[in-house]
Amino acid sequence: MLYIGSHVSYKKDTQLKGSLEEALSYGSNAFMFYTGAPQNTMRDEINDLLTVEAMNKMKMSNILLENVIVHAPYIVNLANKTDVTKYEFAQQFLRQEVDRCLTLGVKYIVLHPGSSVGQDRTYALNNIIDGLNNILLKEDNIMILLETMAGKGTELGINIDELKYILDRVELKDKVGVCLDTCHLNDSGIDLVNFDEYLDEFDKNIGIGKIKCVHVNDSMNPLSSHKDRHANIGYGTIGFDTLINVIYNERLDNIPKILETPYIDKEYPPYKFEIEMIRNKKFNENLIEDITNFYKGGE
Ligand code: FE
Ligand code: FE
Ligand code: ZN
Repeated sequence: MLYIGSHVSYKKDTQLKGSLEEALSYGSNAFMFYTGAPQNTMRDEINDLLTVEAMNKMKMSNILLENVIVHAPYIVNLANKTDVTKYEFAQQFLRQEVDRCLTLGVKYIVLHPGSSVGQDRTYALNNIIDGLNNILLKEDNIMILLETMAGKGTELGINIDELKYILDRVELKDKVGVCLDTCHLNDSGIDLVNFDEYLDEFDKNIGIGKIKCVHVNDSMNPLSSHKDRHANIGYGTIGFDTLINVIYNERLDNIPKILETPYIDKEYPPYKFEIEMIRNKKFNENLIEDITNFYKGGE
């Protein structure tokens, strides 16, 4: 079964219910959101009434909780111990994020593993491991998904070895997994034309069952560019057919696929139209015009 959706907003006044409604408006049966602004750690209290309404609506629209993903803010850096106060804050924040997810009923949190920022790489990886071991509790019904990174700056988790290094050393193994990101894989040097070879290697080293989410993005930059700039589906260097092959790869069947592609003119969400293309398995060469017309026409 194809579970496809996008990153959606999460607003103070509508919370999970608003995120769900946005996702449904794109024709999604999966979605991902930040519990506040992605670039900061200010978070509002969760309104249980809105959560209950969201749960009822999810049931009615056949959206499974396993296909609802939270993305931790990308400024949380569990790898950085150069400032102990910040390191402790990162852990504290992530713990609160886990608690928020438990309150919302969300089972998966995507996390950028971190950046080494001048520290020794292995030392930095060990900081991530220690952080995760401090945060996670046996009773948590949650999984933190380490995202495969592009290798921009000093990012960690940029290949199977680094992810395996972390996963092998987290004590509560059932609470950690992986989120693939197609743009990041491309930019890190994985040619997605040979996606099955990558999956073979992943399976041999980590186990394919650890993959619980896939971020589907095209890339503005070539293979191995270490840039991390997302492009609309079929409008980047990876290309439509290759992305379709990733999305429909039977080894990742039932794993939620989440679009994080850029808005058109920074204004119009592309997701309804990209999801349509993906469901039809047919590239729309008028995508940009169609999106612009749809949202402008509605104004
Ligand atoms: Fe991410
Ligand atoms: Fe991503
Ligand atoms: Zn990215």
